[in-house]
Amino acid sequence: MEYKEIIAFLNDGLQLVINYLTSPGKRTYFLYLISSLLLAAYVFYRSNRKGSFLNYILNKKVWLSKSAFVDYSLIIFNSFFKLALIAPFLLFGLKLAFNTNDFLLSHFGYASFSLSTAQTLILYTISLSVLNDFMTYVVHLIFHKVPFLWEFHKIHHSATSMNPFTQYRLHPIELLANNIKGILVFGVTTGIFDYLSDHQISKWTFLGVNVFSFAFYAWGANLRHSHVRLKFFNFLEYIFISPVQHQVHHSDNPKHFDKNLGSRLAIWDWMFGTLIRSNQVEKVTFGLGKEDNKNYNSFLKNLWMPFKNIYKLLFERKSKVL
Ligand SMILES: [Zn+2]
Ligand SMILES: [Zn+2]
Repeated sequence: MEYKEIIAFLNDGLQLVINYLTSPGKRTYFLYLISSLLLAAYVFYRSNRKGSFLNYILNKKVWLSKSAFVDYSLIIFNSFFKLALIAPFLLFGLKLAFNTNDFLLSHFGYASFSLSTAQTLILYTISLSVLNDFMTYVVHLIFHKVPFLWEFHKIHHSATSMNPFTQYRLHPIELLANNIKGILVFGVTTGIFDYLSDHQISKWTFLGVNVFSFAFYAWGANLRHSHVRLKFFNFLEYIFISPVQHQVHHSDNPKHFDKNLGSRLAIWDWMFGTLIRSNQVEKVTFGLGKEDNKNYNSFLKNLWMPFKNIYKLLFERKSKVL
């Protein structure tokens, strides 16, 4: 690598880091953080807590803890890791969409009907959002249930304090798996709709999908990884995962393990019996439990620990790996 290339690489990587705050496509976009702050103020004043709101929200234990620095380090590390993935993933997604469309054409001929532009926009938005959410649930469940994958997902659960950036506290291997899932869902769905709508999928079609994300992000999605206990109405928690429900997912109490695995929709948890509602739980502490927390209290330990533990699983308890 030449000097200039190194500078360009560093610049691109830093740009990705900054994107977390400046891109409306990211959950931690500054406007979503502001809307979360307003919701946090609502929770604070309703709970009649003592002390000031600023102390509550800018708590040192939350933003400057060892755990928080692991989050920040992983975001920077993963931004550089992602640089290498973006272009091939985009190409792969488009190729998959093209191949799906081609497959349908060659097997079924031209569709006997064609969706109108408005139908395409609405159905594509709903299909992509719901399918993506379901696949996120499935992949999350697999990461919890398959022992060697759990070792990678543990990094997300090793946070002992949570702030909105904890959302991105992921091992690069899990990041890779999540991206592959996203691309597969995007490629296949886009291909199907391209076929059904006679090639009306264009850039603006994504507007609908973005509106869905926008609604989710603006409505306190940032509080899922935080100490702000925002609940939804009880009945709504069967449909949408509230911030408190995701906090329960991070609980170190074995009673809460492998529960509330959903991302946006709670219906998958409800359907598969992994749902816990806020009013079923009192207080939660975050992390993997006292003993294990120590093994994950630095950036390097979080990166390295999965490999060490998988090695142990393979050679010390062979039968438990798969
Ligand atoms: Zn999890
Ligand atoms: Zn989480």
